[in-house]
Amino acid sequence: MRKKLIIGNWKMNFNMHEASLYLHKLMNMLPSHRDVEVVLAPTILTLQSLSLQINRRIAKLAAQNCYWRDSGAYTGETPVAHLRGIADYVLIGHSERRYIFIESEKDIRLKVQAAIRNRIRPVLCIGETIQERTLGETKDVLADQLTSGLANVTAEELGEVVVAYEPVWAIGTGDNAKAIDVKKATQMIRRHISHLYGKKAAESVRILYGGSITPASAADYLAIDELDGLLVGAASLDAYQFKEIISKAHKG
Ligand code: PEP
Repeated sequence: MRKKLIIGNWKMNFNMHEASLYLHKLMNMLPSHRDVEVVLAPTILTLQSLSLQINRRIAKLAAQNCYWRDSGAYTGETPVAHLRGIADYVLIGHSERRYIFIESEKDIRLKVQAAIRNRIRPVLCIGETIQERTLGETKDVLADQLTSGLANVTAEELGEVVVAYEPVWAIGTGDNAKAIDVKKATQMIRRHISHLYGKKAAESVRILYGGSITPASAADYLAIDELDGLLVGAASLDAYQFKEIISKAHKG
């Protein structure tokens, strides 16, 4: 049974002091929900100090990005190997990385492989642009991004991978996708992974939705059977809103 996963992506927000205050507040508000895994993705600079402060029974940490080589002359990059013992997850191929920092499919594929090699779970972000959606290309875009992003992953490693469906047009725009469209995209994603690896292996992958989620819209997505959780940007910057979203994932 796949455990629900709620990730808060802080993007480039919160300095050390602010991040620490937020974490203190959230740790005091959240019980350790055994049926929901909570993950925070702070900036790289705050990650290590938060790792010393966080109660891992309540929440875990993710990096927002990484480099795929373990060491070398790559000024400014963070090797995924250095995340070990600090972060449990790493976001890979977020649309802001793909479209602002022009990350290629090859970069993304190598990062996914490096994360698995270093026992950090990759959260592979995929999704169509508004132009691709208008042209009816969503299914092909998702299939291509999955085929490429997972190209170096074996069936045995697949259970370590999380896929986040994040339509580019829904991120940071307030224009969240309809639950019915998220359901269809989730089905397309699992069907394609099944096509690549077989049904059993595909069942081990957790699939999330991300894009302008609010406490008011979260429940509709969490009611989708095939969906395993949410990747939350702006609404995760408010500990109370994030807690409300998490509580909707908690059953019983
Ligand atoms: C994100 O950054 O992954 C995201 C979904 O952002 P927002 O919730 O702000 O759209």
